[in-house]
Amino acid sequence: MPEFQAPVGTRDVLPPDSARWERLIALFAERVGRAGYGLVVSPVFEDVSVFERVGEATDVVRKEMYDFEDKGGRHLALRPEGTASVVRAWVQHRPTLPFKAWYAAPSFRYERPQAGRYRQHHQLGVEALGSDDADLDVEVIALAWGLYRDVGLNGVRLLLNSLGDQKCRPTYLAALREYLTEHREELCDEHKTRIDENPLRVLDCKRESCVRVTAEAPRMVDYLCDECAAHFSRVREGLGELDVAFELEPRLVRGLDYYTRTTFEFQAPALESAQNGIGGGGRYDALTEQLGGPPTPGIGFGIGIERVLLACDAEGVFPAPTAAVEVFVVDVTESAALGIVHELREAGVRADRAFDNRSMKAQFKLADRSGARLAIVVGPDERERGIAKVQSLKGDKAEEEVKLEEVVEHVKGRLVE
Ligand SMILES: [Zn+2]
Ligand SMILES: [Zn+2]
Repeated sequence: MPEFQAPVGTRDVLPPDSARWERLIALFAERVGRAGYGLVVSPVFEDVSVFERVGEATDVVRKEMYDFEDKGGRHLALRPEGTASVVRAWVQHRPTLPFKAWYAAPSFRYERPQAGRYRQHHQLGVEALGSDDADLDVEVIALAWGLYRDVGLNGVRLLLNSLGDQKCRPTYLAALREYLTEHREELCDEHKTRIDENPLRVLDCKRESCVRVTAEAPRMVDYLCDECAAHFSRVREGLGELDVAFELEPRLVRGLDYYTRTTFEFQAPALESAQNGIGGGGRYDALTEQLGGPPTPGIGFGIGIERVLLACDAEGVFPAPTAAVEVFVVDVTESAALGIVHELREAGVRADRAFDNRSMKAQFKLADRSGARLAIVVGPDERERGIAKVQSLKGDKAEEEVKLEEVVEHVKGRLVE
């Protein structure tokens, strides 16, 4: 085993698998770009308070923050999720509203490594600040939905809930707390002691005992004030108009405390239930204030790249592209490959060659392995006659002779056939 390995809980993504990442991010960028979202690149670490401020009493802050002290004595943390950084950046620079942003960035959690969970994982996401219009909720959810369709995932379930707002949630939390306190002895060990702190977390608990108790618990949707009820109803109506299928899940809460009103999660049933969440998000109308900005409504989501690709594997969709190049130049004269490959690439053709003056046979082996459709072959005889052989590497292996100066045009023509 080599001396150095990727750190525990991380992994390398190499070609050809990385081609799917590239494609996934490109599809996402294209889709959200069409909807007016612009790329935000923010630091991978922030003052730890940025994340603490938005995540009081959550597991992320409690146990999983990847924090450290730098050489200047600053207490920093690697970003555990995307929203806080983007909102901090908005509060700092205050670009005009509405502010529609997207990102593709790593997130970090210091947790016990297990299958499908990494200390560094990668997320695609959007944040839209400046409006509490329910149509914006629909737009944001439909963007994520569209990406799953782009990669060919068919089984994705969208779970939807409303968490109310500061006006109606306190009444609900009181009712929930009362109910959970009555059933305290039936809850799992962790939640017996944590009802008062954040009763919503109990709804999120996957342990059988808690699941049984919360099945009958009061539901936020029954406590929504008129404004929140109207908002939620418009979200459902809008999703219906766009043919985005959803299921109401009254126990759906998000892991972070700043979420208000609309909350949603995407699940891939093809994955094990412990790790079938492939994306989610919600409205966070109270977040900008917590980061020192003016009250500004917002909504966003994050999609886990690793999880989406796992779901694609499970459904057998979105395979890695097989051919890295289209044309391979086989040249044993040491005179033609450099120029031809350059011309091909400048002409927009994906092309490669061998190095180190290898034999014809060895070069053809590399050509086959490259996945290229065509080989351009130059030997001493061809060079003498000012021609190249263009040979099909797939199917009939037909070959034809082409003048050297016309070979790039010829090959371009063949590739579009
Ligand atoms: Zn529990
Ligand atoms: Zn309300």
